[in-house]
Amino acid sequence: MARYIFITGGVVSSLGKGLASAALGSLLQARGFSVRLRKLDPYLNVDPGTMSPFEHGEVFVTDDGAETDLDLGHYERFTGVPARNTDSVSSGRIYSNVLEKERRGDYLGKTIQVVPHVTNEIKDFLSVGEDEVDFMLCEIGGTVGDIEGLPFFEAIRQFSHDKPRGQCIFMHLTLLPYLAASGELKTKPTQHSVKELQSIGIAPDVLVCRSEHPIPEKEREKIALFCNVRKECVVAAYDLKSIYEAPLAYHEQGLDQAVLDAFDISPAPGPKLDVWHDVYDRIHNPDGKVKIAIVGKYTQLEDAYKSIAEALTHGGMANRVKVKVEWVDAELFDEGDATPYLEGFHAILVPGGFGERGTEGKIKAAQFAREKKIPYLGICLGMQMAVVEAARNVAGMEKAGSEEFDHEAGKKRFEPVVYHLKEWVQGNHTVARKAGDDKGGTMRLGAYNATLTEGSHVAQIYGGTAIEERHRHRYEVDTKYRAALEEVGLQFSGMSPDGKLPEIVEWKGHPWFIGVQFHPELKSKPFAPHPLFADFVRAAVEVSRLV
Ligand code: GLN
Repeated sequence: MARYIFITGGVVSSLGKGLASAALGSLLQARGFSVRLRKLDPYLNVDPGTMSPFEHGEVFVTDDGAETDLDLGHYERFTGVPARNTDSVSSGRIYSNVLEKERRGDYLGKTIQVVPHVTNEIKDFLSVGEDEVDFMLCEIGGTVGDIEGLPFFEAIRQFSHDKPRGQCIFMHLTLLPYLAASGELKTKPTQHSVKELQSIGIAPDVLVCRSEHPIPEKEREKIALFCNVRKECVVAAYDLKSIYEAPLAYHEQGLDQAVLDAFDISPAPGPKLDVWHDVYDRIHNPDGKVKIAIVGKYTQLEDAYKSIAEALTHGGMANRVKVKVEWVDAELFDEGDATPYLEGFHAILVPGGFGERGTEGKIKAAQFAREKKIPYLGICLGMQMAVVEAARNVAGMEKAGSEEFDHEAGKKRFEPVVYHLKEWVQGNHTVARKAGDDKGGTMRLGAYNATLTEGSHVAQIYGGTAIEERHRHRYEVDTKYRAALEEVGLQFSGMSPDGKLPEIVEWKGHPWFIGVQFHPELKSKPFAPHPLFADFVRAAVEVSRLV
């Protein structure tokens, strides 16, 4: 049965709990253990699928089609373990399950309460797959003391109580603020945060203290004493140049050792950290630099395109170059000329997105890349807009557009080269959708196979013709226009296995112009960069050498 590590946070949000959890997961793997990471989010949305990326950052999609928190992306990037829909849950999902059971009569007339019904539902979620791995790392979103997080904290307290002694530990992240005036790190907020945790019956075994300055021995002793934690279990977390330094940095600070000690695992197998040393080396010793524009809508919040930014970094690591990403707001040239905004970049990436705002700018970005022969990677909406661009400007369909925007505007302005997908095949069954369906969880979601055309650019990049990638979209390029577009050189080089859904398009005769209906960024890892990103950055390096 798995040992459980519960990761909580206090004092402030955004301390990097997700990253600490992911790094710890990778360190336990480096010591030969198997791990699975899980996220419990206190908000009431059933999942983040319906949240604006401005609010919550990117939605991370799993192979089995769950729309989850972006922390699951960190988990995958650090451990390589594909997340499942049973690895992410919110209060909304828990309550919705409980209420569904209540309506069905499953509770046999009982009064339904937070304790035990909601907490039991959370405990059931925690138990899924407990026999499959050595360690289950469960991160609780938010900070201790938040009203909405209470049922989760109560559930993990009960859970550890239900298990044999030594089966569960608690790791708590806090902040040590630095007062410049007195030149001191302050421990009081940490003490209060631990007190808050203790007041709900949880005593932390390991404290991870974020700090911008080295933690003096004296302060470490003080924290240990007041928070009732062993001194070796007060682990410092300093700011890092790159998130991929986290496994080595946490190892140096003794996090994995503290965790193994807390479980009484002795002697602990030594860690094999070669992979992370190589990652470190590639990040810190680049041989050149490329500048890539991400032309999107959610440019004020970088977390909105988290996986794309990370995948570009991985692509840079594959080529030993630093990728300098610049966020360009597509709306800036919805009407005017794109050239002043896009000149000077070595490659252009148009990411996924929803809604019409900024799409004319994205179409211009695709046109600019096509005409100037700059490497272009269009992802999901970025592919759809590249197809619209080809239809309008090359194939002579002036009115080409996406049905998505006509739906939004309640008008019929466009010839829908991108249409509302209402039926598709998943495994051995057909999925059906209709206009007006719920917004949550109804897109074409998760991993689907695609077949690539032999001899195409993408087949060469992937090194094969059978791929599986993750999807998240409602609209689709219409094969009705395939012949007309191929005639002018836009090749449909990847299709769903039944040949009905275009998965990839590429311009013949262009050095690097690829649009993909799926999200390759979700599967890229620092130690295994996605081939499309690795080759896209390689193409950008070539452009950088020409100028
Ligand atoms: N809005 C488009 C669709 O639903 C693209 C989605 C995306 O880019 N993820 O098809």
